[in-house]
Amino acid sequence: MGKQLEQISIALGGNPNSGKTTLFNSLTGARQHVGNYPGVTVEKKEGFASQNGTNVHIVDLPGTYSLTAYSQDEVVARDFLTESKNEAVVNIVDASNLERNLYLTVQLLELGVPVCLALNMVDVAESRGITIDDKKLSNLMEIPVIPTIARTGKGKEELLNKAIEMAGDAKPSRNFSISYGDDLDEALNEMETIILKSNFLIGSYPARWVGIKYLEKDELVIEKGDKINKAVSSDLIKIVESVSKHLKNTLNTYPEALISDYRYGYISSILKQGVVKRSHEENRLELSDKIDKVVTNRFLGPLIMAAIIYGLYQFVFTYSEAPVVWFENFFGWLNGLASDNMSDGLLKSLVVSGIIDGVGGVLGFVPLIMFMFFGISILEDSGYLARVAFMLDKVFAAFGLHGNSVMAFIVSGGIAGGCAVPGVMASRTLKSPREKLATLLTVPFMNCGAKLPVMALLVGAFFGKNEALMMLLITVIAWGGALLVAKLLRMTVISGPPTPFVMELPPYRLPTMRGLLTHTWERTWQYIKKAGTVILGISIILWAMMTFPGLPESDLAVFENQRNEVMEAASAEAVQELEAAADNDEAELSEAAAAVQDQLFQIDGREAEKALRHSVAGSIGTALEPVSKAAGFDWRTNIALVGGFAAKEVVVSTLGTAYSMGEVDPEETGSLGEALQKSPGWNPLVALSLILFTIFYAPCFVTVVAIAREAGSWKWAGFSMVFNTALAFGVAATVYQIGSATGFLIG
Ligand code: GDP
Ligand code: MG
Repeated sequence: MGKQLEQISIALGGNPNSGKTTLFNSLTGARQHVGNYPGVTVEKKEGFASQNGTNVHIVDLPGTYSLTAYSQDEVVARDFLTESKNEAVVNIVDASNLERNLYLTVQLLELGVPVCLALNMVDVAESRGITIDDKKLSNLMEIPVIPTIARTGKGKEELLNKAIEMAGDAKPSRNFSISYGDDLDEALNEMETIILKSNFLIGSYPARWVGIKYLEKDELVIEKGDKINKAVSSDLIKIVESVSKHLKNTLNTYPEALISDYRYGYISSILKQGVVKRSHEENRLELSDKIDKVVTNRFLGPLIMAAIIYGLYQFVFTYSEAPVVWFENFFGWLNGLASDNMSDGLLKSLVVSGIIDGVGGVLGFVPLIMFMFFGISILEDSGYLARVAFMLDKVFAAFGLHGNSVMAFIVSGGIAGGCAVPGVMASRTLKSPREKLATLLTVPFMNCGAKLPVMALLVGAFFGKNEALMMLLITVIAWGGALLVAKLLRMTVISGPPTPFVMELPPYRLPTMRGLLTHTWERTWQYIKKAGTVILGISIILWAMMTFPGLPESDLAVFENQRNEVMEAASAEAVQELEAAADNDEAELSEAAAAVQDQLFQIDGREAEKALRHSVAGSIGTALEPVSKAAGFDWRTNIALVGGFAAKEVVVSTLGTAYSMGEVDPEETGSLGEALQKSPGWNPLVALSLILFTIFYAPCFVTVVAIAREAGSWKWAGFSMVFNTALAFGVAATVYQIGSATGFLIG
């Protein structure tokens, strides 16, 4: 027995779905997410528990099956265990699936950390007729074992007491090692000697562990080793190479496989010694297995999956419609309020177009994000998402993506009309960093709801006869482009081996409403908190770009004079009528008054057009014209595309302004379409070029901010802006040039 400490630190580790989060909550009382998808715990969670005067600091490690370097979660867990001082590691294992769970335990012990086993879900095991002799397990593995039921908190006191006791124990954790067979053992001994002699990497790791990692070809450890002592590192690699060759020749296997075989062998030898007893029928099919027989069936599986994914999509975008409209109406009302009560001028323009639109832009996505996370939480917590990943992994892996990428693509507009912001956030379910990055960077190509008005305008105006076919083509191009670009990125800037599919299929569970709501709210709040301020800031900058420097006095005077002339020429009745109508939107105008009003609108339109051209955005658009001509775009289109960075549908309203038509409502584009048809710079080829550009170019800035958050760096957000725009321009210019040369679509 050691002395009692004032404060100790323990880490909580275990497989996904072992009940880690539940135990953590039960110990710390903190409000946390309880999920059912492998590895949901990415963020580091910490909490405190008090027990008999000892303050216990608990860190919840990411759920992992292993401590290799395959996934970010594993690396995070491993680094934390070796780099920070943990006085005890509580390893929570699922008693109903002990063999699988102890695989991690073996690796924790090899890492030399003091392990206390929380034998969790003993109730589940019992209901399946499995009894575990915890005393025997403890004796055989030489570690403390405490049976627990995390759901009810049973056993947690005893567990804490044991952890505190371990932390107080002065004696170092025992040297744990298992045999990996003659060949590997010999190699390991040889390596251990070299490692100890040259003090190689053993500040934080046990010598034998370093050897094992070299045998497993662990990239991160070898990289570290190379940096510290290249010569020793090469010596170790030589040993690994020679034993690998020997294994290949004699057993036709490789070290990693053998290591894993022996670990399982060790575990099963322990379990077979009377640790696990089953009372009834050994091969009884569990309910989950029965469901899986149907749900992952070769023929039925994909059908069920398609139906569920389509259902999720419908759920997200249909049910969020009402709240989206409430938000829109609210901000419309706010906008009206500001417009009516503020005097014309810059401040009003800033409040209305910069701030209210900006805040609206942030909050407008909230219903979508909430519904998306709610839907995904159901799939995740029930265990179905793991099946989707499992079934689709082969297809997506061919493009360097992951089975789980599908959610992000669908939500982003894989079925036209989605939104890339919740789509990017859906990539959170991807645990392997490279696949996740490739997904993040390509989902913006999907046909989001904001691109649809742009497509509808162009297709309606120039491909009216083949509308449906064109829309289908656009979806196909978006998917094809996304998958090909993903493949390209995975072969170049984010190259690296695919993450092996090590996920197990967790048992199906009925999600709890509380769990779903907590999960949904946490993610949504994170979006508002983390992305909100940045989005508002950028919205104001974009407003400024479209507004400043404004027209010089002399120009303003010209338009004012034109208005005055119209008013002077108008009859007294018409003027009176218009003044009356200004206070009453419903008023019917006489023909004469309507003609006057129309003239005034046209002057306003020309003024707005001139001011836009004069703005910073206008200067950019004009300056880019010599280049953009290659894709058929003039300065007007360029400005609209700059505006589209705020939100894709702004392309439509900005085109409206640029063609002196005032702000065009993205939902009623008929007259703008006609104007474009008549305009000399336009023909179907230009429209096609612009359609292609719109599919591929820089995502809207809300998406860019979301990408930065999810990728964890602005570097990749910047990359997506530059790369996507360059790609879009390349595609559009190629099509336009070929079309111009061959006369295709120019009518
Ligand atoms: P994690 O992935 O390891 O964090 O696992 P969770 O804590 O999210 O638990 C997964 C599921 O198992 C949840 O539905 C929990 O309510 C449930 N669970 C956790 N511990 C127990 C337990 O001891 N008994 C039972 N019956 N269910 C449990
Ligand atoms: Mg968890």
